[in-house]
Amino acid sequence: MASGIQAYDVIVIGAGFSGMYMIKALRDKLGLKVLAYEAGEAVGGTWYWNRYPGARCDSDSYIYCFTWDKQLLQDWEWSERYPEQPEILRYLEQVAERHDLKRDIQFNTRVTGAEFDETDNLWHVHTDKGETATARYLIAAVGSLSETNLPQFKGLEKFQGKWCHTSRFPNGGINFTAKRVAVVGTGATAVQAIPEIAQQAKQLTVFQRTANYCVPARNGKVDPELINARKNDYDGVVKRIKESFFGFEYNFIPKSVLEVTSEEREREFDRMWDEGGFAFWLAYYQDMFFSQEANDLCADYIKRKIRKTVKDPVVAEKLIPKGHPYGTKRQPLDSNYYETFNKDNVVLVDANTDGPIEEITARGIRAGGKEYEFDIIIFATGFDAMTGPLKALHVKGRGGRKLGELWADGPHTYLGISIAGFPNFFTITGPQSPSVLSNMPVSIEQHVEWIADCIDMMSKTGKATIEATPEAQEQWGAHVNEIVNGTLMPRANSWYMSANIAGKPRAFLPYLGPEGVGGYRRKCDEVAAKDYEGFTLA
Ligand code: NAP
Repeated sequence: MASGIQAYDVIVIGAGFSGMYMIKALRDKLGLKVLAYEAGEAVGGTWYWNRYPGARCDSDSYIYCFTWDKQLLQDWEWSERYPEQPEILRYLEQVAERHDLKRDIQFNTRVTGAEFDETDNLWHVHTDKGETATARYLIAAVGSLSETNLPQFKGLEKFQGKWCHTSRFPNGGINFTAKRVAVVGTGATAVQAIPEIAQQAKQLTVFQRTANYCVPARNGKVDPELINARKNDYDGVVKRIKESFFGFEYNFIPKSVLEVTSEEREREFDRMWDEGGFAFWLAYYQDMFFSQEANDLCADYIKRKIRKTVKDPVVAEKLIPKGHPYGTKRQPLDSNYYETFNKDNVVLVDANTDGPIEEITARGIRAGGKEYEFDIIIFATGFDAMTGPLKALHVKGRGGRKLGELWADGPHTYLGISIAGFPNFFTITGPQSPSVLSNMPVSIEQHVEWIADCIDMMSKTGKATIEATPEAQEQWGAHVNEIVNGTLMPRANSWYMSANIAGKPRAFLPYLGPEGVGGYRRKCDEVAAKDYEGFTLA
């Protein structure tokens, strides 16, 4: 090896939930030499970068954590039903300390490229610090929603106030007191941030392109008896979430909404609405994702709630979702979101009725021919989801083939974990895996454990490379698309469908398996049990 080039068994990119567990699994269980590169200055990934006001996980805290550290499951006390960003960061810091992970993480270092060298069967990985290192295996633990989408608004460079994207919020926050603030976007992030910013700002103007269906989060303290009951039954909880559809303790109601009486339907709606959280989305009648008629009944219930909550009927009408079925975009959870539009200092500018954003000016935003003046603009415009973070790594596989070129028309993977022509390269919660359609830690742990077992098998059998076959990859892609095309999901211009960004080729990004994360886990295990069916081992 040329001097100055460090050699590792495995290089992991990213030190969020997935990178951290990957280090643990490879180093402490398999005894491998591992290095993780992390662009941030600390662990946390998503929770390191997304520091906007109101940032909070939409999964219940008792299942938004690692399940492999059983002692920590017992010891850690979450303060509320949904963990807030600083609390999740503290939790991950604690995990890093307990397992001494930081000694194998190089912080403040971004991977700028990596290529597979067919002469030595090693990955050569380059960083923005000018270093190159080699590894037998390369693992992308870069998260699904880490590549910021800042739309190319004309004139942004002219704006004389302050602006910021929610995923790059300054550490220490922004003081909105006495300021005129704009928030662009009304996705899950904006729905969390808007009520918080509205409490501080002199005036808040929200620019909405598509109205969303929001359901109540119902955050708050959790009953200590329930906390204890869960702690006493953590093995049961973990088993249930692993076998479930979405990685939560939710199941669909196993009948059609069309076959129940309107009284029963209304009772169930009320129950889920009162329960709060993803129950409404993920524990609804089973035909909600498949039948427009069933879906309309659910959508109508939420529309009635919006009209009841928002006092000004003109504003309420703007907030009523139109043109996409309920549940086909990521469900935002509402903590005073709709109520915020009753405040005197809050204005809603809707692209459909008031006109779209035309440009950013020196003083603010021009939309629908009118200029609005601001001191601060917050872009809550989301991410180049799933494929974006992987393309940004500039990886090259066999023959110098660039991932970005291979994916010019959307992702091509086998199981969302491997890519044909990219030997010994794995993607944790990659495109075409359940990932963002699940409670993330559940899917992360499944991928990490599968990859670690695979690498263990490789060393025990003395194999040098493993890669997906093009045929298995093609079949998997066809399967992913066939399933989603049988649902209502393609009817929305969502980021799931790659439709949030102009020019991004339309493709469904995650995997909505017929049996959810439980079925997907069984499929991956079956592949491994059949000597890694669909892979070539050499
Ligand atoms: P998002 O859901 O993609 O929302 C972005 C918003 O910006 C949308 O309202 C979008 O409108 C708007 N927008 C994008 N480009 C625009 C343009 N050129 N002009 C005007 N408006 C534009 O992004 P996000 O709210 O950041 O959420 C992304 C994902 O992060 C969520 O879906 C969720 O998975 C995750 N998240 C998770 C949590 C959590 O609980 N852990 C919290 C927040 C977010 P359109 O709808 O028309 O595209």
